[in-house]
Amino acid sequence: DRNADSEGVVVIGLGRFGSHLAESLNALGHEVLAIDDNPQQVQKWSAQLAQVAQADSTNGEALRQLGVADLSRVVVAIGASVEASVLTVLALVELGVPQIWARATTTQHAKILEAVGAQHVIFPEAETGERLAHLIVSRMLDFV
Ligand code: ATP
Repeated sequence: DRNADSEGVVVIGLGRFGSHLAESLNALGHEVLAIDDNPQQVQKWSAQLAQVAQADSTNGEALRQLGVADLSRVVVAIGASVEASVLTVLALVELGVPQIWARATTTQHAKILEAVGAQHVIFPEAETGERLAHLIVSRMLDFV
């Protein structure tokens, strides 16, 4: 099974979250295919990442041509546009991608992503804020 053996990860959307994720995966030794529809973002990140492509990720045919259907893990890091995020997840589900991670900005957004078929829904801002709160509280206890 080609999918199960693949170490590659696709990151869609090279905003602050997506670009840091792509860089970290790259540093961990994973092959990263990064996709963004903004030519400026593509140009900016093509120096740091080996594979950066310009495409509208709501277009399933464009994703298929980039070989996204052959990779088992895709992260949809688009945040601001719920429509672009949901349509991208739909295109990935239709391509048969087995592991779709999608970033949600609100609980309604998360529900739609799950309904469409995302296997993992993540809230980076909420999760980071929560983790930091725990870290600050544990440090405070250290100094009591
Ligand atoms: P961050 O908080 O991570 O900076 P953001 O919410 O400010 O993200 P978004 O508007 O979510 O920014 O966009 C993140 C990236 O996703 C941008 O670089 C944008 O060009 C890209 N993007 C948005 N829509 C699409 C799409 N349909 N296809 C491909 N890339 C897209």
